[in-house]
Amino acid sequence: MVDSKVIEELRDYLNQSKYTVVLTGAGISTESGIPDFRSKDGWWNKINPAEVASIKALENNYELFRDFYKYRLMMLEGCKFNRGHKILADWEDKGLVKAVVTQNIDGFHKDAGSNRVYELHGSISAIRCHACEKKYTVEDFVNDKNCQACGGNLRPGVVLFGEGLPSYVWQEAYDEIVNADLLLVIGTSLNVSPVNSLPTVAKGKKVLINAEKTHMDDIFDLVINSAAGSVLAGVNKALQETR
Ligand code: NAD
Repeated sequence: MVDSKVIEELRDYLNQSKYTVVLTGAGISTESGIPDFRSKDGWWNKINPAEVASIKALENNYELFRDFYKYRLMMLEGCKFNRGHKILADWEDKGLVKAVVTQNIDGFHKDAGSNRVYELHGSISAIRCHACEKKYTVEDFVNDKNCQACGGNLRPGVVLFGEGLPSYVWQEAYDEIVNADLLLVIGTSLNVSPVNSLPTVAKGKKVLINAEKTHMDDIFDLVINSAAGSVLAGVNKALQETR
């Protein structure tokens, strides 16, 4: 049960802000059935990221790399966005949220109806040839196809460990966050660089909703250690009651 005082505090922050930007991580999608990476049930307790989700694996251990992403794509097939994604999309419709910046590669913010979404780590379903960049479908990837044009290996359009973030997306997301009156950070351990630098440059108020404590809690004006879906649903209800 989330304390009603913090729900009201976040509602007031949202009402007072003229420009709210949301930054999300894997934690907003765990309620859709997608495991995150670093909490106790997360991926990285079972698998080493440097071994699979990396440029090194793609280039030197392609079968392991492909199997890992085939598994993640298969897992996504049976899952969809949850109430947290939907509430954020509704808040964009109502003008309460101006943009969502996400580390997630699942596409759930867009599926839920958010329009201004910055996918800093790309999208798992945007398959391309690693060598010549020709576009392919998820079906091609899961069926172990190679590039018809150059014979190269297919890969999802995600930013791998060892790769840089797309600079234009990064710059736009950075500008949104720096200038926001309110930055609402949801479901991230704030361990992945450079994304974890974003809350430190934000000039406005900062709120963190995360199931567990992070090493950056101190920089936030308000920290709510609870599940994102129930916090967002609680704030949504409080907003409706006061409008
Ligand atoms: P992370 O796994 O490092 O941290 C997730 C955080 O979310 C944890 O601190 C956990 O306590 C919290 N959390 C889990 N469930 C929650 C809930 N219901 N409500 C609130 N908080 C919850 O994830 P990260 O910080 O996003 O960084 C991991 C990297 O993994 C990112 O680069 C991202 O691209 C990638 N990733 C993406 C997905 C996805 O697209 N759904 C899934 C796993 C990992």
